[in-house]
Amino acid sequence: MFEKVLIANRGEIALRILRACRELGVKTVAVHSTADTEAKYVKLADESVCIGPPPSSLSYLNTPAIISAAEVTDAEAIHPGYGFLSENADFAERVEKSGFVFIGPRPETIRLMGDKVSAKDTMKAANVPCVPGSEGALPDDPKEIGRIARSIGYPVIIKAAGGGGGRGMRTVHTEAALINAVNMTRSEAQAAFGNPVVYLEKFLEHPRHIEIQVLADSFGNAVYLGERDCSMQRRHQKVIEEAPAPGIPRRLITRVGERCAEACRKINYRGAGTFEFLYENGEFYFIEMNTRIQVEHPVTEETTGIDIVQAQIRIAAGQKLWFKQRDVEVKGHSIECRINAEDPFKFTPSPGKITTWHAPGGPGIRVDSHAYSGYTVPPNYDSMIGKVIAYGDTREQAIRRMRIALSEMMVAGIKTNIPLHQELMLDDRFVKGGTNIHYLEKLLAEKGK
Ligand code: ADP
Repeated sequence: MFEKVLIANRGEIALRILRACRELGVKTVAVHSTADTEAKYVKLADESVCIGPPPSSLSYLNTPAIISAAEVTDAEAIHPGYGFLSENADFAERVEKSGFVFIGPRPETIRLMGDKVSAKDTMKAANVPCVPGSEGALPDDPKEIGRIARSIGYPVIIKAAGGGGGRGMRTVHTEAALINAVNMTRSEAQAAFGNPVVYLEKFLEHPRHIEIQVLADSFGNAVYLGERDCSMQRRHQKVIEEAPAPGIPRRLITRVGERCAEACRKINYRGAGTFEFLYENGEFYFIEMNTRIQVEHPVTEETTGIDIVQAQIRIAAGQKLWFKQRDVEVKGHSIECRINAEDPFKFTPSPGKITTWHAPGGPGIRVDSHAYSGYTVPPNYDSMIGKVIAYGDTREQAIRRMRIALSEMMVAGIKTNIPLHQELMLDDRFVKGGTNIHYLEKLLAEKGK
């Protein structure tokens, strides 16, 4: 095991990694911007290093500052968390070339999966079911593009190869709108991701977002830890996640899960990863692979009893997977509500000082958050300030526990989306389970919110 790990992230995930390290007996280095100097989790780390001013481009994305921090503190490995540099292949490469271990997949794998066109090609070759679409990148010739779209059938979605975070996508319903939309997506993609390559996919009208969590070691062993349902989304951003996915037959999950584990073996995948699928009419369609820990990993930890962050660290330290697929048992049900510092219905960010923070507790309740009374949410970063995770023997029990937890939770000084979650936990369709990815936005539109 490593002696010391540097955590190249902030907020709740930095604290989550810190806790995993402490349980493994690994010392920690927290790096932080000047906006996070006073955060309590920074003080909990064995050492801390300031890596720059508040803008992430100058701190949490500042590769030389992070590598220097690892050098001066003698850290052996770097955990990137999610967001920031976690899926940056150049960063992973720099980390390894500087003599540190990157806690994640090999840089080549990150690069391969980071380009959605090459990711999809790879998955197709590995027998993972994909959304019907163009064979790779779209050509320049408008006639050819038109022919491809017609052969897929409208509506289609244009997606940027370098896209991420719900950006770089455009839906097209008619041939008349196609070329203009392709050109606009191309130039947006060039501006946002430095890569103008786009491709086409069939636009699925009412899918659910179902993803498969995998773990693979460096010795060719790979397992899947069941699925998560992340269909409750607003602007392609997940709001609520749960495991398992309500109403999907186990045999279908087993079949797609085995394909994912097999694909990991084929591409020599290392560490934790997520295969994201759209699920419609009993079929799974791969959309992308995330080569990092995800925000919603706790619902899988709750239902499998496997600590995924510790697993990442153990795998990076060269350990073999210590269990087999047949040992993975999905038990009970878990739901996660992302707590954001924002107006619950207008969604405008609400940074500032939290004057009161009272976290819920009791059976089956887990709160992953770095916030506390007196903590100031900086305006510079993502608005997510924590996650409430409920576990129950059944989905009904998990929902009941979540309702109680949300009613106990008190956050004053800033606005949060807790009132939205409270409404959703009472919403008939959500309670029934199995809503599709458009449900939440439709509901908000109906309420005029
Ligand atoms: P990102 O990397 O930006 O998250 P994804 O490819 O994972 O992009 O897609 C994000 C979301 O966009 C999905 O969860 C889904 O809501 C929607 N989406 C993507 N592809 C399609 C498609 N072919 N049909 C319908 N919706 C899609």
